[in-house]
Amino acid sequence: VKVLLTGGSGFIAAHIVDILLQHGFDTVVTVRSEEKGKQILKAHPDVSKEKLSYVLVKDIAQDGAFDEAVKSSPPFDYVLHTASPFHHNVQDPVKDFLDPAIKGTTGILKAIKAYAPTVKRVVITSSFAAIVNPNQHAKVYSEKVWNPITWEEAKDHSMVYRASKTFAEKAAWDFVKNEKPNFDIATINPPLVFGPIVPYLNSLETINTSNQRMRNLVQGKMREKIEPTATFLWVDVRDVALAHVRAIEVPEAGGERFFVTAGHFSNKEIADIARETHPQLESKLPPTDAPSDLPADIYGIDNSKSQKVLGLKYRPLKETVSDTINSILAVGV
Ligand code: NDP
Repeated sequence: VKVLLTGGSGFIAAHIVDILLQHGFDTVVTVRSEEKGKQILKAHPDVSKEKLSYVLVKDIAQDGAFDEAVKSSPPFDYVLHTASPFHHNVQDPVKDFLDPAIKGTTGILKAIKAYAPTVKRVVITSSFAAIVNPNQHAKVYSEKVWNPITWEEAKDHSMVYRASKTFAEKAAWDFVKNEKPNFDIATINPPLVFGPIVPYLNSLETINTSNQRMRNLVQGKMREKIEPTATFLWVDVRDVALAHVRAIEVPEAGGERFFVTAGHFSNKEIADIARETHPQLESKLPPTDAPSDLPADIYGIDNSKSQKVLGLKYRPLKETVSDTINSILAVGV
């Protein structure tokens, strides 16, 4: 059984590759450069080229970007689409975020419909960003809630990432409704994703966006002042990766959106766990009496669908923080 995974050089995608291989799938990843493709293969020296290979897709926002990548022999059975920009360096909101997110998503769906008739399901990495309503929080967040952001608001630099994920996911559901392709889709909607960094892809300088706060903590950058938590929900990357793979393995996952979260947290809580699991970091960490910014009346969450349908069991924060810090210390601070 063969899977195409877009954005193979990403943090979440690297963990998805591990689980796809463990579960016996033949995996082809898309990357933007030969160099990244080679790094991925080099990190899996014992895996044959039938089991793991890469194809180049340089600019996912271009018309027809995926037309060649979706053709393969033997042909693909499933596609996992994770590629999408996630960083804080917004220069041109349309070019940097909205186009690659939205056109990247519709582009791969169009390419599959036209050139990959054997594909049965496409799993798309969406986000809690496509669920949250920061202006008026839901009482309880679940798959039923949609971020109501408008096109007018989308180009605001502080909102463009969330807009890119919301409009990309909407475009995917609209595509299926209007085009009635042979495949169905499922979306995975995680909040902040923490977990072991992928040393063959990133240095501490280029660490993926959601793990930056872990690096900053370990480097002593929160000693004087803890960064605002901002999004008070998290999930472990290995659970997110498993959710993607389960979403192709479980027939009932088709046509569904999955809110995958382990629950609430604050940066202060991460610091407290770090003190417990890594006492040697004491001099880098904020004082024990530093305040937590987790609001007492924080919104609720309902992640029951992900547990029921995908069979997920969420890792606890302590395990994730400890493993993430170990992975950061392993590459040196
Ligand atoms: P990374 O930045 O590590 O991975 C992003 C991937 O997308 C990389 O492979 C990157 O390629 C690729 N990509 C980004 N922009 C483009 C582009 N314009 N053209 C082609 N490829 C592009 O982030 P994550 O692994 O964290 O994110 C993966 C997915 O998960 C994204 O869809 C993101 O929105 C989503 N997500 C992430 C969360 C998190 O907390 N980490 C939370 C919720 C959703 P390259 O390496 O070449 O830059």
